[in-house]
Amino acid sequence: IAFNSARFLTSASRRSECPEDSGAEIAFAGRSNAGKSSALNTITLNSKLARTSKTPGRTRLINFFSLSTPGCRLVDLPGYGYAKVSRDMKNDWQQHLDDYLVNRECLRGLTLVMDIRHPLTPFDRMMSDWAGHNGLPLTILLTKADKLKNGPARQTALDVKKELANHPSLVAVIPFSSLKKTGVDQTRLQLSQWLVG
Ligand code: GDP
Repeated sequence: IAFNSARFLTSASRRSECPEDSGAEIAFAGRSNAGKSSALNTITLNSKLARTSKTPGRTRLINFFSLSTPGCRLVDLPGYGYAKVSRDMKNDWQQHLDDYLVNRECLRGLTLVMDIRHPLTPFDRMMSDWAGHNGLPLTILLTKADKLKNGPARQTALDVKKELANHPSLVAVIPFSSLKKTGVDQTRLQLSQWLVG
C-alpha cells in the first residue's frame, strides 16, 4: 500500500455523512495532544494531511482519507479529552464515535495512539477494552518515543503489553516517533496487512 497516496476525502459529524460503508478502513484514536495527527502525517509522508494543532482537540469531526488502493481508507477520529469542551459536546462526541465504531462494517482495525510518557489513560483502557470485546484488531502506537531513551521506551512497550496480556485482539505495541521516524515502517506493515491481508 502506498501510504503517501493518502488524500483527504471527507469529514463527517455523524454516521449518515460517512462515505459508503464498503472497502476497508483503519481508524486512529487517541487523547488530544497524544500525537495522533503527527503520526498520521508521518505514516503518509504528508505534513499537511491531518491537522496538527497547538490547541488540542480542535478537530471535532471524523476525517476520512482515501488511499490509492481501491476502497482503502484511513480514518482520523476526533481527539478525546479536550478540557475546554462542554459536557454536552463530550456526550455528543461520544455518541457519534460509538455509533461509528459499533456500526462501521468496513472497519478492519483500530490504531490507538498514546503518549509514551502517559500510556493507558482511562480513555485508552476504555477504547482498548472496547476493541477486545468486539474482536477488532488493535495496534498501540506509543508516540513521542524520542522523549525517552531507548531502554525506557522499550520497557514501556513491554509494560503496556504485560498490562494487556489478556487482551483478545491486541496485535502490537509499537514505540513511535514522528520526530525520529521510529516505528514507522512497522506501523505501515501492520496497516497494510489489515487493509489487504
Ligand atoms: P494530536 O492532538 O493527537 O493530533 O497531537 P499532535 O500531532 O497535534 O501533537 C501534539 C503535540 O505533540 C505537538 O506539539 C507535536 O509537535 C508534539 N509531537 C507529536 N509527535 C511527536 C513526536 O514524535 N515527538 C515529539 N517530541 N513531539 C511530538
